[in-house]
Amino acid sequence: MPVTGFFAPPQTSRYALRRVHVPASLLAGPVPGPAGHDDLVLCDLVLEGGTVADIAAAGTVAAELGPDLDRSLVLPGMLDAHAHLDKGHIVPRARNQTGDLLGAAAASVPDRAARWHAEDVRRRMEFGLQCAYAKGVVAIRTHLDSPAPQPTITFPVFRQLRDEWAGRIELQPSTIGPIDILMGDEGRQLADMVAESGGNLGSGTRFLELNNSPVPPEFDVVMDHIFTLAEERGLDRDMHVDESSDPEARTLIRIARMAVKRRFKGRILAGHCCALALPGDDGCLQGRRHRHREPARGEPLPAGARPVRQQ
Ligand SMILES: [Zn+2]
Repeated sequence: MPVTGFFAPPQTSRYALRRVHVPASLLAGPVPGPAGHDDLVLCDLVLEGGTVADIAAAGTVAAELGPDLDRSLVLPGMLDAHAHLDKGHIVPRARNQTGDLLGAAAASVPDRAARWHAEDVRRRMEFGLQCAYAKGVVAIRTHLDSPAPQPTITFPVFRQLRDEWAGRIELQPSTIGPIDILMGDEGRQLADMVAESGGNLGSGTRFLELNNSPVPPEFDVVMDHIFTLAEERGLDRDMHVDESSDPEARTLIRIARMAVKRRFKGRILAGHCCALALPGDDGCLQGRRHRHREPARGEPLPAGARPVRQQ
C-alpha cells in the first residue's frame, strides 16, 4: 500500500524509498527508466548511511526495505544562496510603509539601532533557520547587516547558531552595508572578523556619505581597497551591486574590469544588479542575447533589453 500524508523515513542505516519520481536531469549515470514529458523518472532509491547507494528501476527493490511513496517527487536539499537571516520577522514591529527598497530601509535601519540586541537577533535568525529546515533547505549564505556596532553583536550569534545547526543546515556569512563600512580601521576590523568567521567580504556599491549618481571617483579608490582587504585574507566577495533604479548606476562593469586587471583569485558574487534592466547607451552588459542568434537590425527587443556592444 502506498504511503499517504507525511511519513518518517525508516530508522535503519539502509532503507529504500520506492516508486518515487526523480528529475532525469539530476541523475548521474544510466537512467533506470523512461523519462516522462516532465523529465521525471519513476524509480526506487536505496539509501545507506545517509547517502544514495542505488537508483533502481521502479518496483525492483524488495518491499520490506522501505515505503511505496506513490510517485512522490524527490529532490536534492535546496540551497539558499542569498538570505538576510538577521532581517527576518521584524514586520510586525517595523512595517515597510511604501512597499519598496527605500521603505524597507526606512523601517529596518531604526529597528536595527533600537532592537537588534543579541537575543533578538538569535531568536529571529533561529526561527528563519527552523522555517528553512522544515522546507528542505540544507545550505544558506546570509548577508548580515554590518554597519557598526551591529557586526560585533550579530556575528558571535551567527557563529554560535552555525555550530548548533551543523549537520542540518550549512551556513556561510557575508558582511553587508554601504561601501563606506569597509574604509579605514572599521574596514580592516570587519575583514578580520569575516576571515575568522569563514565568511565572504560583502558590501553594497553605494556610499552613505557621498552622492552616488553618477558613480563618484572615490568609488574606484574604495573598491580597490576592498579588493586588497579580500586578497590579504584570501576572502571571496559577495555584494549588492547597482541595487538601484538609477540609470547612472554602473558599478558592475567597473568591478569586473578591476577584478580582471588585478587578476583577483577569489570568487565574486554580484547580486541584485537591478540597474541592468534600465535603458542606457554605454553599451556593455546591457542586453539579453537571443539564445541562438543576434536580433536582426530593426527587430524589436524585449522590454529593458539593449544590444550588446563589444568593448
Ligand atoms: Zn543581500
